[in-house]
Amino acid sequence: MEENIRYSVIIPVYNEEAVIKETYLRLVKVMEYTGEKYELIFVNDGSRDQTAALIKGFRNGNDRVKLIDFSRNFGHQVAITAGMDYASGAAVVVIDADLQDPPELIVNMIAKWKEGYDVVYAQRSKRKGETILKKQTAHFFYRVLRVLTEIDIPVDTGDFRLLDRKVCEELKRIPEKNRFMRGLVSWIGFKQAAIEYERDERPAGETKYSLKKMIKLSIDGMTSFSLKPIKLASYAGAVLIAAGLVCCVVFLTLKGNTFSAPGWKLVIILQLFLSGMLLTMMGIMGEYIGRIYDEVRHRPLYIVSECYGLKKREEE
Ligand code: UDP
Ligand code: MG
Repeated sequence: MEENIRYSVIIPVYNEEAVIKETYLRLVKVMEYTGEKYELIFVNDGSRDQTAALIKGFRNGNDRVKLIDFSRNFGHQVAITAGMDYASGAAVVVIDADLQDPPELIVNMIAKWKEGYDVVYAQRSKRKGETILKKQTAHFFYRVLRVLTEIDIPVDTGDFRLLDRKVCEELKRIPEKNRFMRGLVSWIGFKQAAIEYERDERPAGETKYSLKKMIKLSIDGMTSFSLKPIKLASYAGAVLIAAGLVCCVVFLTLKGNTFSAPGWKLVIILQLFLSGMLLTMMGIMGEYIGRIYDEVRHRPLYIVSECYGLKKREEE
């Protein structure tokens, strides 16, 4: 670990050739402004475009630029984790590569950190240039998560944040595979502060969070911080038993041709309803079991093919 680095900025990148140059220039400007020693750690999450080549270009003439090159795409949350494993700053900042998180805000984060906060997270008061679907699903997701979990995960807050070294060290001790970093940071605790900002548009390129990745992230968030979904099965079971009992009593006490009515319609409806519910519950349980399986296999979280400006370490 390199000594005396004050700030490590971690930038996960996946096919960001369209914006990476501008991001780099703006980050350098902001970090130079601090007047303290810093490093920019780009984590290339298996990009298939010119992203890695461009970053290597930035390294010519600026040895503060470092690059961790993954062997394939491991996902945003894992890329952040890798950055933290290699960062040596007294404070660590995580920022998206697409300038949706304005780099200039880092200065405010640093100010808060100097006031004595250990985690400074950026909370979005507005989101510009994103689809209604994205905004609505994100809004809904953060609120559901809030209801489900016992820990206090701030709403509308992504991974753009500053962490003190001691928080970073604690995070490194968490070996969890399906990681939801913003939840883990809240779970760790320490003194946390928020700063509000308006989330900008992407100046170029498209979102790298496909619907599939978004669904995975939200399920990771919910399952790793709450057992409530799995408990739903028992509640739903209890409700159905009660409904069954009521039906029994009603059918037995009712006179007339209750049973000769075209009951097959009712049977089909009940059958569909019940099997749908059972399968859903099995699916929810499957999510948890799948995660247990991920844990027990003990595979490393990521594989680094090459490091530039950093020493490649043996994966534990
Ligand atoms: N990203 C990544 N790996 C992925 C997907 C995204 O490293 O598999 C990076 C991406 O390059 C960006 C950040 O994660 O720096 C956030 O992604 P994006 O801006 O596409 O997400 P959105 O802002 O649309 O939620
Ligand atoms: Mg973005």
